[in-house]
Amino acid sequence: MPDTALPATPLLDAIRAIVGDRGLLTESSDTAPYSEDWRRLYQGRTSAVVRPGTTEELAAVVRLCAAAGTAIVPQGGNTSMVGGAVPNEDGSELVLSTARLNRVREIDTADMTLTIEAGVTLKAAQLAAADRGCLLPLSISSEGTAQIGGVLAVNAGGNNTVRYGNARDLVLGLEVVLPDGSVWNGLRRLRKDNTGYCLRQLFVGSEGTLGIITAAVLKLVPQPKEIAVALCGVENPEAALALFSRFQAHDAASISAFELMSGLGMSFVLKHIPGAVLPLEAPAPFYVLVELASPRPDAGLRGMLESVLEQALTEGTVLDAAIAESDAQRAAIWKLREEHSEAQKREGASVKNDVSVPVSKVPAFIGKATAACEALLPGVRVVPFGHMGDGNIHFNLEQPVGSDAAWFLGQDHAIMDAVNDVVREYDGSFSAEHGIGKLKPYMMPDWRGGAELALMQRIKAAIDPAGIMNPGKVLP
Ligand SMILES: Cc1cc2nc3c(=O)[nH]c(=O)nc-3n(C[C@H](O)[C@H](O)[C@H](O)COP(=O)(O)OP(=O)(O)OC[C@H]3O[C@@H](n4cnc5c(N)ncnc54)[C@H](O)[C@@H]3O)c2cc1C
Repeated sequence: MPDTALPATPLLDAIRAIVGDRGLLTESSDTAPYSEDWRRLYQGRTSAVVRPGTTEELAAVVRLCAAAGTAIVPQGGNTSMVGGAVPNEDGSELVLSTARLNRVREIDTADMTLTIEAGVTLKAAQLAAADRGCLLPLSISSEGTAQIGGVLAVNAGGNNTVRYGNARDLVLGLEVVLPDGSVWNGLRRLRKDNTGYCLRQLFVGSEGTLGIITAAVLKLVPQPKEIAVALCGVENPEAALALFSRFQAHDAASISAFELMSGLGMSFVLKHIPGAVLPLEAPAPFYVLVELASPRPDAGLRGMLESVLEQALTEGTVLDAAIAESDAQRAAIWKLREEHSEAQKREGASVKNDVSVPVSKVPAFIGKATAACEALLPGVRVVPFGHMGDGNIHFNLEQPVGSDAAWFLGQDHAIMDAVNDVVREYDGSFSAEHGIGKLKPYMMPDWRGGAELALMQRIKAAIDPAGIMNPGKVLP
């Protein structure tokens, strides 16, 4: 690639004058980790990673880039599953990391709000809330690395959507640096505020293509005083759905997570993750992790869990079940679910489909999509898992044993198209919680074409007319 693509040295000198030496990485050994995505699907290149320490610094950097016409790729924890935070291959884009915007600005236990900067990891945000007796009700397996800005920019979902909604549902206010370097301070904490268009929701889920989120006001809820968790072995997704209905009929409001895992996915976790142990007598074809939670200490959740599971065991909906007896056992059961992505990565190459269908259609979707993939690629290993309680299944395919990883990854469009044909039959979505990133823009005309995509393109052109914010992501 011609080096003329690289941002000119005077721009980097001017940026250095704003952020200082610790705010600018230019050595290729330093910038390399920011140029590759978690799944290693994309290997980009950048001449610099800028790490501003304040919103004002970040805005000044964006103003310089806007004047120079240099594109910016916002990056948080770089855990995107769709290559959303990596720069392109010619080195012309700067990576703008929010990692040093890492202050908790305020926790208000009367208003139940958390005002926090974009670079705080989700885990650190949860701990800050817990310190004050509150819960930030958003939990994803990458929470130790993913940052608040990234989580909001993709509208992450995760384990508790069934109870509390997605990231979008927790946002009361935002502070955003716009593509011209101006700052929109919308850090309000109001529960009701009907004053024209809801701008904050435009930026949530925009994947860095409209501006850079620098801080947010998030809703908190009271910390649960009682939590009950069980791992259940079930015969098939139909039985998992029947179990979900049973819990819903009993007390829908107490369900805080209802996760599905396949027997094959669980076997990868047991094989690759040190310390992972199955707490059941025997392996099962599918598993459900159910979590009940209440802010009341005397909610009787343990009794409820036992009675629902007893009925389910008697009627054969559940094959076997283990209820966590301690915090350590609860964490051990959650680990089996949270390590699914990592275990699949260690097992080999995988093609991921982050899809959603109506909850009632999850079993039918899994059955049909499995048959379609096995017919397309004999020997492919189907590993569906995910957030069954909200209809979001990670319908992942692991490479056939002994096959070539690069060849398998080359089949990704054919596989994703086969899965998406089934998703469409059930009025689902081809992108449930991971976003579009660099991986899926080609699907947008087919799924969101016509007036919807045209409207998105007009919004992009109005807010970022020069197209310097995360080019090539989301929109085709
Ligand atoms: C093991 C694993 C498990 C996961 N589990 C889940 C899950 O259960 N649920 C779920 O929803 N997701 C999950 N994800 C994917 C999920 O998208 C991310 O983990 C998380 O939401 C992204 O945060 P991040 O800080 O890493 O963002 P990044 O990967 O850095 O960026 C993601 C996107 O947001 C943009 N962006 C980043 N920061 C900002 C900012 N401050 N302002 C504007 N744009 C910005 C980037 O340009 C990019 O387009 C998982 C990922 C992994 C690796």
